[in-house]
Amino acid sequence: MDVMARGSRNLLDRRSELMARYRAFQARGIVIDMTRGKPGPEQLDLSLDMLTCVDEDSYRTSGGVDCRNYGGLDGIPESKKLFAEYLGVEPEEIIVGGNSSLNMMYDAVMRAMVHGVVGSPVPWGKLPRVRWLCPSPGYDRHFSVCEHFGIEMIPVEMGPDGPDMAQVERLVAEDEAIKGMWCVPKYSNPTGAVYSPEVVERLATMSAAADLRIFWDNAYAMHHLDGAAAPLENILTACKAAGHPHRVFVFGSTSKISFAGSGVALMGGSVENIELTKSQMSYQTIGPDKLNQLRHVRFFGDLAGIEAHMAKHAAILKPKFDAVLDVLDRELAGKNVATWSRPSGGYFISLDTLDGCARDVVAMSAEAGVRLTPAGATFPYKKDPRDRNIRIAPSLPSIEEIQAAMEVVAVCIQLVSIDRISMDAQ
Ligand code: PMP
Repeated sequence: MDVMARGSRNLLDRRSELMARYRAFQARGIVIDMTRGKPGPEQLDLSLDMLTCVDEDSYRTSGGVDCRNYGGLDGIPESKKLFAEYLGVEPEEIIVGGNSSLNMMYDAVMRAMVHGVVGSPVPWGKLPRVRWLCPSPGYDRHFSVCEHFGIEMIPVEMGPDGPDMAQVERLVAEDEAIKGMWCVPKYSNPTGAVYSPEVVERLATMSAAADLRIFWDNAYAMHHLDGAAAPLENILTACKAAGHPHRVFVFGSTSKISFAGSGVALMGGSVENIELTKSQMSYQTIGPDKLNQLRHVRFFGDLAGIEAHMAKHAAILKPKFDAVLDVLDRELAGKNVATWSRPSGGYFISLDTLDGCARDVVAMSAEAGVRLTPAGATFPYKKDPRDRNIRIAPSLPSIEEIQAAMEVVAVCIQLVSIDRISMDAQ
């Protein structure tokens, strides 16, 4: 037998062995959901006291405001103080809103389209085209917002320190139609990247349209897994220093700190940006859920309280992330069929298969009961040009489920890769 024939014999033997494992998984009838970054029930339990810390005797702010009533468009003073510190802005530079920062981002895009932003010559929606920079892989719901508004998305390559800044600078300098950019600057969804000081500085100083807005979605500001927080420069401070104080809208929420469905959401920016936003919002609402804001302030107390709480989340999440990495290391290391991130925070592990395999791996895993985020979702228009990125969300399932799910994924990756390699060899 020549070397080639022996090689394909080995591959065939491995394929049938892997297929047997795959069939065994199918026979087990497992059902595991790893599609979204939902906190697990034990994480939600950490905040249960929030349900009782506001009651029939204690529904007023320290200044005496009755939180049951209307009013306070930008939030109660104590939550503005606490979350301004959390977001790295001043209390007059923040709106503490309802339960969803995605909702605040969507509304910010909608207002810019209809009314424009500080410094817009015309509302974005009146322009012949609006374009947006999308570091990819990125957060699928950001991309869906753009798609919903007919905003043309331009993918930008995402690296370990943030987006490819040479590409960003070139694009924004030559195209006034670029009005926005999504950034998840810390423990980014899905790669876990943390923007370096140089990237933050270049974003603040680059020359761009006066009404370009960076949507700085710091959703994972305190969500470290390894004890120490990764440092991140303050983008608003950098923009002010660069003479572009209105360039950035900063967002965040407690969705992955308190309750994912009942947290509080935050929007920060220059005083002018916040004042314009409030005046536009005043047509939309009389005020947010102040009782929930009071609950959050009572429960956490101060920033140190949030930090201590996040250490409890990390203690639950870290073993889940380790379980994913252990299986990937054991099953796939050295096989040249996949690479994966080792994030120090956030909610996701980003897995890259060989080109052209991700869609098949996700479909095959689903047939063995493991549901993953659809392949392609991490790219604009749901099109991963290399069909290789898979987002792994370990927070919701138990460790045993994660181990089983990742074995299924690893077996599928190997099977799909073998088929791809044999196809390419033909
Ligand atoms: N931004 C990012 C980057 C996220 O990953 C998520 C949740 N997966 C959100 C925003 C959603 O935040 P919220 O619950 O505040 O709407």
